[in-house]
Amino acid sequence: MTKKTALITGITGQDGAYLARFLLKKNYKVIGLERRSARSFNWRLEKLNINDKVIIEDTDIKEINNLIRIFDKYKVDEVYNLAAQSFVYSSFQNPIETSLVNSIGTLNLLEIIRNKKNKIKFYQASTSEMFGESKSIKQDEKTLFHPRSPYATSKTFAHYSVQNYREAYNLHAVSGILFNHESPLRGEEFITRKITLGLSKIVLKKQKNLKIGNLYAKRDWGYADDYVEAMWKMLQSKKPDDYVIATGKNHSIKQFINESIKALKLKTKWVGKGLNEKLINTENNKAIIVIDKKFFRPTEVNILKGNYQKAKRELKWKPKTNFSKLVKMMIASDLEYVKNLDKN
Ligand code: NDP
Ligand code: GDP
Repeated sequence: MTKKTALITGITGQDGAYLARFLLKKNYKVIGLERRSARSFNWRLEKLNINDKVIIEDTDIKEINNLIRIFDKYKVDEVYNLAAQSFVYSSFQNPIETSLVNSIGTLNLLEIIRNKKNKIKFYQASTSEMFGESKSIKQDEKTLFHPRSPYATSKTFAHYSVQNYREAYNLHAVSGILFNHESPLRGEEFITRKITLGLSKIVLKKQKNLKIGNLYAKRDWGYADDYVEAMWKMLQSKKPDDYVIATGKNHSIKQFINESIKALKLKTKWVGKGLNEKLINTENNKAIIVIDKKFFRPTEVNILKGNYQKAKRELKWKPKTNFSKLVKMMIASDLEYVKNLDKN
């Protein structure tokens, strides 16, 4: 059988790296799009030992002419569109760039695929942020969207564009509405990694304290490596459709911190209220987590919890990694990472 070819936009990101490894194991030829930067190496691909196993093409997803050239160069079977300005906080500062990448970047790919005669399957990285201020206790594929950030509005545009191209041009195009998913490869600016890395540095005496924002928002956190399998399953399904991918359980930021503290076997207590709330290390009475209003957002998504029953039923997908295992894995990885910082 001839090898299938997959094109991953955003291959240098968390999901791109795990997905590339997953597809290589399935014997795909993997082409990844990377925008040029001053960064010397792709640390995530290096960490998974796959840097020399994928073909990298250099382009920004906003550059449609480069994208056309790449689609002309390879006979692509499946496209996974993971490239995005993916950080909600930054989207408030850079709403236009966020929309150009997340909305117009997606439209560029859909237009190219529409113009190609051969059937290319398309996966879009949609997000639970589209539900935003949701009235439902659990969100599923039928729940109304109420986006609360430029990131969420840009992704909602992309989501509806995928749906429209599927209906209008019969494209095999799907969106995975993924709830937050984390891993040791998560960007350091996201709260989970910020906590596991920050606390690891504090324990190893490389940092005094960690400043964060809203402790009480709740997220449905899963493990990224479980979620990339769902992306692939969606594209193998006969009928193109959209699916929620989640764990069905949620926790607050404070609970994530408490679970990390447990994994690190630290003795701590919470004191104070509101902006004065702090986590104290009871062995030396020093504050190790403090609140900084700089990290609050103009509009917050307070609570998200996904219902993944449709994916379970139709794709036979379910999450394999629970909250506690995820936190332990991230803490173990960050302790190792911080110890090695000294050696480099
Ligand atoms: P990351 O931020 O880790 O990765 C984003 C990727 O997009 C990086 O490779 C980045 O490149 C690339 N990128 C950004 N801008 C451009 C551009 N203009 N042109 C080309 N490439 C670009 O995100 P994740 O891996 O966590 O997420 C993957 C996708 O899934 C994203 O679309 C995200 O919005 C979405 N998503 C993620 C969730 C999560 O919890 N992780 C939840 C739901 C959806 P560079 O390395 O140069 O920055
Ligand atoms: P998001 O769900 O895509 O916005 O993922 P993040 O990990 O960036 O944020 C998850 C939640 O953590 C949001 O409700 C944030 O307001 C909250 N949060 C609290 N403090 C911080 C912080 O210091 N950094 C980040 N990134 N988020 C924080």
